[in-house]
Amino acid sequence: MARMKPQPGIMDIALYVGGASHIEGVSDVVKLSSNENPFGPSPAAIAAVERSARNLHRYPSTDHAALRNAIAGAHGLDVARIICGVGSDEIITFLCQAYAGSGDEVIHTQHGFAMYRISALAAGATPVEVAERDRTVDVDAILAACTDRTRLVFIANPANPTGTFIALDEVERLADGLPEQCLLVLDGAYAEFEPGYDGGATLVEKRENIVMTRTFSKLYGLGGLRVGWGYACQDVIDVLNRVRGPFNLSSTALEAAEAALGDRSYTEKCLSENTKMRLWLTEALRELGVGVDDSHANFVLARFGSAAEADACEAHLKTQGLIVRRVGGYKLPEALRITVGDESACRRVVHAISQFKAVAA
Ligand code: PMP
Repeated sequence: MARMKPQPGIMDIALYVGGASHIEGVSDVVKLSSNENPFGPSPAAIAAVERSARNLHRYPSTDHAALRNAIAGAHGLDVARIICGVGSDEIITFLCQAYAGSGDEVIHTQHGFAMYRISALAAGATPVEVAERDRTVDVDAILAACTDRTRLVFIANPANPTGTFIALDEVERLADGLPEQCLLVLDGAYAEFEPGYDGGATLVEKRENIVMTRTFSKLYGLGGLRVGWGYACQDVIDVLNRVRGPFNLSSTALEAAEAALGDRSYTEKCLSENTKMRLWLTEALRELGVGVDDSHANFVLARFGSAAEADACEAHLKTQGLIVRRVGGYKLPEALRITVGDESACRRVVHAISQFKAVAA
């Protein structure tokens, strides 16, 4: 066994630690650690899953035409330039496989999503971490970090786990300043939560060096089915389709995503509830003396005075049946990321943190 050495870089990948969904000895647990939709999938998506069961003996579509058409229609995009993946995670993987290898550099931001680094290392490339400014993507720092070996730059907008957002003209300035051989990946996992933001689709139309990634895991409540997609110029999509397995998405996932996309009134309702409770949660936490930046997504980053205080608060929340997230491999050790739940979950969180603060005072 010892002689079977993995490729260079593989052992530098830290194992991804997923969040727990239950707490030993505690009932009525609420999971607020994975930015899931607290209202679940749309009833239309559930019905589609049930319908799809009748055809499970058939292989799924290889070109995902029905879902791509639905996405193109909903977002006003060119269907030929859409690719679907097993979550947007898989699109990130395709990008690294296809565009980055040994000797190449892949830039991600300081608190960037874990998959950027994992996929870069798995492809044999070198991840390069760039500092943020006030927990926000720093375009100048990214441009300064680019070299003639940089092949990919990943930013999430809105960003996870910070919830911060940069304006489209900043994104455009980044795309304009990148070296010629470099693609900008604009991760829009939380794009729906920023009113009026198209995830950067209009920039993709104008520029060949931008790829937009999106997901059905957040607003659409389909994290368990794993559906994501990407939008880019035709040449990039052609490249990505070459590394994509022919049956990467299950028929159940494809049909549920299409149904979820069609149920606009459901997503509108989820969105307006999220906005209302996010603002409420932000204000309530600030009143308790917790540091919270304005969030542009479906979670807030709650910053405490120290890592020890965040640890103690997380432990107290656990005793109250509330699971929140330690983030970024403890690169933000003083922070807890809290998904915006429904009203009752948000009230429970604020109540538990006020208890904790009262005892700590
Ligand atoms: N990008 C970001 C910024 C995320 O937070 C997540 C999920 N946590 C993803 C991508 C991946 O989402 P999925 O693979 O479920 O589409």
